[in-house]
Amino acid sequence: MKIGDIIKARGSSLSFEFFPPKDAATEARLFQTIATLKGYGPTFISVTYGAGGGTLRNTRKVILRIKEETSLTPMPHLTCVEQSHQDLDNILKDYKRHGIENVLALRGDPPKGTDEFVAHPDGYCYAIDLVRLVVLVGGYSIGVAVYPEGHTEAPDLETDLYYTKQKINAGADFAITQMFFDNRFFYNFMERADKAGITIPIIPGIMPITDIEKIKRFSQMSGATLPGSIVAPMEKAASPQEALKLGIEFATKQCEDLRQNGVKYFHFYTLNQSQAITEIVNNLGFAKKAPRP
Ligand code: FAD
Repeated sequence: MKIGDIIKARGSSLSFEFFPPKDAATEARLFQTIATLKGYGPTFISVTYGAGGGTLRNTRKVILRIKEETSLTPMPHLTCVEQSHQDLDNILKDYKRHGIENVLALRGDPPKGTDEFVAHPDGYCYAIDLVRLVVLVGGYSIGVAVYPEGHTEAPDLETDLYYTKQKINAGADFAITQMFFDNRFFYNFMERADKAGITIPIIPGIMPITDIEKIKRFSQMSGATLPGSIVAPMEKAASPQEALKLGIEFATKQCEDLRQNGVKYFHFYTLNQSQAITEIVNNLGFAKKAPRP
């Protein structure tokens, strides 16, 4: 099913993001995690690609396995990194032949070891070009990335929002935000997006903080502000279990605040772990459905 249509019909959304495993053992663990989270009836589950997210082959393998073995709606992430427009066209047509109806269209992060995005000589510089290609291929509901604190390369928030709106107007049905830890960035972004005439559903991307050192690295890369009020207690945690408990409490409070402010969509960056996510969604009262006989 198309994510844009499901969200419209439900008026709410719960989704989970995974990265593709690198070997059989981690793949087996990932599918256990997926089996656990499947019970919450997610609108979709997405699988990253490139940069820290692995190869196209790994993403494709997981996406097609989810499609074949479960009743879930899988969404591959697709980036322009090191791909010609013909490569991207082939990938989209291949996914489509396998019944995939959704894609997160991204420019992509520079490959490991480099810090500047360089387009393929026959490829694309910006996500908008990929959105246009997906529209041409047809048959997809298209998601794009948005940045409550602004994209790290953007000169200012206004310019970033200008290009974001162009990207959405090119054919996106919904957007997922970069992680953020202070909801004020999200509320400000929503206000600015509203004023700019952006009307598609914008799904906040929630990253539970379970390993503070890892999240510090992520937030530095993504430009997400990590408030000292979270960092200090996490650093003082006496054990990984205590840190996990604090991280779960923080993410629960963050989502409760979003909900009190009218947010009905939640996308969780799972880092392929189910424990923290399960506790957070339970705390939020998402009901786990009984498995089908
Ligand atoms: P764009 O929308 O193209 O924007 C990139 C920059 O260019 C921005 O600064 C924008 O303001 C600017 N810009 C846009 N258009 C123009 C223009 N016409 N002229 C001048 N400037 C312009 N990365 C991965 O590699 N793999 C993943 O699986 C992945 N998943 C992600 C999932 C989510 C939910 C999010 C939020 C991000 C994800 N990323 C992933 C990271 C993303 O690829 C990077 O943030 C990347 O640097 C930008 O991608 P984009 O699609 O937002 O690019």
